[in-house]
Amino acid sequence: AHIFPSAWSGVNERTFLAVKPDGCQRRLVGEIIRRFERKGFRLVAMKLMQASETLLKDHYIALRDRPFYNRLKDLYMGSGPVVAMVWQGLDVVKTARLMLGETNPVDSLPGTIRGDFGVDVSRNVIHGSDSRESAQREISLWFRPDEIVCWQDHAERWIYE
Ligand code: UDP
Repeated sequence: AHIFPSAWSGVNERTFLAVKPDGCQRRLVGEIIRRFERKGFRLVAMKLMQASETLLKDHYIALRDRPFYNRLKDLYMGSGPVVAMVWQGLDVVKTARLMLGETNPVDSLPGTIRGDFGVDVSRNVIHGSDSRESAQREISLWFRPDEIVCWQDHAERWIYE
C-alpha cells in the first residue's frame, strides 16, 4: 500500500526542520539555512514563530512520558523564537538527519550541525523529522497548506541528472 502521495516522494520528498530557540539566540539561523541551500535542497516554507503550548504538545506527543518532556516543551522549545521550515529534495528526510547529527551532540561528528554547534543534549540547536511519516505529520502540524510554496527550481537540472 502506498502511504505517501507520489507528490511527496522522490525529488519532491519533504522534511520539517526547526531551528530551536538556542539556535536563534546564538545567531545560527543563517548558517543552518546556508548548509541546506548549498547541499541542493529547496526551501519551500519558512516562518519565525513563538510555538504555542498546544502545538508543542502535539509535536512532542511521543515524548510525553519522558522525564525531560516538561523542560523540553516549556523551558526550551516554548522559551523563545523557533524558525520552522519545510525543505524538499531527494532523500531529504534521511540526509537532513545526517546533516543534523545525533540527538546528543557528544555523539555527533564534526561537520554536522549538532557536532559543530552544540554540547548539551537539551540544547541541540535544531529539530529534524526522523521519518517520512513524522515529516508528513509535523509539516501539517506547523504549516497550513497555503504556506507551502511550490516554485520552479532553475537549479534542478544541475542538482539532478
Ligand atoms: N532531549 C532532551 N534530553 C534527552 C533527550 C532528548 O532534552 O535526554 C530533547 C532534545 O532537544 C531532542 C528532543 O528532546 O532533540 C527530542 O528528542 P528525540 O529523541 O526525538 O531526538 P531527536 O529526534 O531530536 O534527535
